[in-house]
Amino acid sequence: MKPAPFAYHRPGSLAEAFDLLDRYGSDGRILAGGQSLVPVLNMRLATPTALIDINRLPGLDGIGLGPEGLVIGALCRHAAVEGSPLVARHAPLLAQAMPHVGHLAIRTRGTVGGSIALADPAAELPACLVALDATVRASRRGGARDIPAARFFRGIYTTALEPGEVVTAAVIPPIAPGWRSRFDELVRRAGDYALVGLAAHGRVADGALAELRLVFTGVGPTPMRAAGAEAALAGRRPDPQALAAAGRALDADLDPPGDVHASAALRRHLARVLLARVLTRMTEN
Ligand SMILES: Cc1cc2nc3c(=O)[nH]c(=O)nc-3n(C[C@H](O)[C@H](O)[C@H](O)COP(=O)(O)OP(=O)(O)OC[C@H]3O[C@@H](n4cnc5c(N)ncnc54)[C@H](O)[C@@H]3O)c2cc1C
Repeated sequence: MKPAPFAYHRPGSLAEAFDLLDRYGSDGRILAGGQSLVPVLNMRLATPTALIDINRLPGLDGIGLGPEGLVIGALCRHAAVEGSPLVARHAPLLAQAMPHVGHLAIRTRGTVGGSIALADPAAELPACLVALDATVRASRRGGARDIPAARFFRGIYTTALEPGEVVTAAVIPPIAPGWRSRFDELVRRAGDYALVGLAAHGRVADGALAELRLVFTGVGPTPMRAAGAEAALAGRRPDPQALAAAGRALDADLDPPGDVHASAALRRHLARVLLARVLTRMTEN
C-alpha cells in the first residue's frame, strides 16, 4: 500500500518546526528516522495531513559530555550511539542495548528521539533510560523542560509529551564509581523486538548488589521497574537463594501480555531466566 497524500515540510530550525506544529496541530506528524512512522503511513494506520521532517534541524545529532552528564541529541542514530566511545565509557548500558535494536539498516536511520517519542513497550532504549535515571529533554516554543524517564513513559505508545513539544535530547547523569550496568534480552530471531529484555544498573560491592534498578521491557505497557525483585536482592549476592526470592517477587512486579509471540506465562518464565543471567554477569569480576 501507499500512504495517503500529505504535505511535506523540512524546517531548518526548531522555531520553524514549532510554527509547523502549531499550524497543523494533531494533523501534523514529526518525521525522524521514519523506521516506525513510514510503515504505519504505508499501511494507512495513520493519515496525517502533513509530515514535519526534523532531520535537518541543526545541533540535535551530537553526543556530548557536560556537568549534567551525557547528552545524546534526539537525531543521533541508534548506530551512532552503538559506536560512540563516549557512550561506551559513560553509559555502557546503552552501548550494550543498542545492538539489540532491529537490524543494522534500521539502526542507521532510527533515532534516539524517535524511539523515545514512540514509547514502544518492547523497545530497549526507554528501559535503559529509566534504569539510568535519565531525563528526556522536550523543547517547545519559549523553552525546554527535562522530564524524568521514570515519569515520561505513560502507557503503550503514550508519553508525557504535550502538543507542540519536540524531544531534543536524552540526558544521562554521571555514573559514580562502583556502579555497573548490564543489558540483555530474549528474542525468537535476532533483530526482533524483545520477548523480554532487562536493563540492570546498580552498585556492586564485594559481589553484593545495592541501589539496584531493574527495568524490564516487553512485559508490560511501559518500561517495568521490578521494585519487589530489587528489594529481594538488596545487599545480597545473586546466589540461587536470592535469585529464587527475586524471581518470586517478579510475579507481582510484571504484567506481561500474552500474544502470538509468547504467552504471559512464558514471558514470566523468561523474565526469571533473564534476571539470573543478567545479574550473574553484572557481578562477575
Ligand atoms: C523491522 C523493524 C524492527 C525493529 N526492531 C526494533 C527493536 O528491536 N527495538 C526498538 O526499539 N525499535 C525497533 N524498531 C523501531 C526503530 O528502532 C525505530 O527507529 C524507532 O522506534 C523510531 O525511531 P525513528 O527515528 O525511526 O522515528 P519515526 O519512525 O520517524 O517516528 C516515530 C514516532 O516518533 C515521533 N517522533 C520522532 N522523533 C520525534 C522527536 N524528536 N520528538 C517528538 N516526536 C518524535 C514521530 O512523529 C512518530 O510518531 C524496528 C523497526 C523495524 C522497521
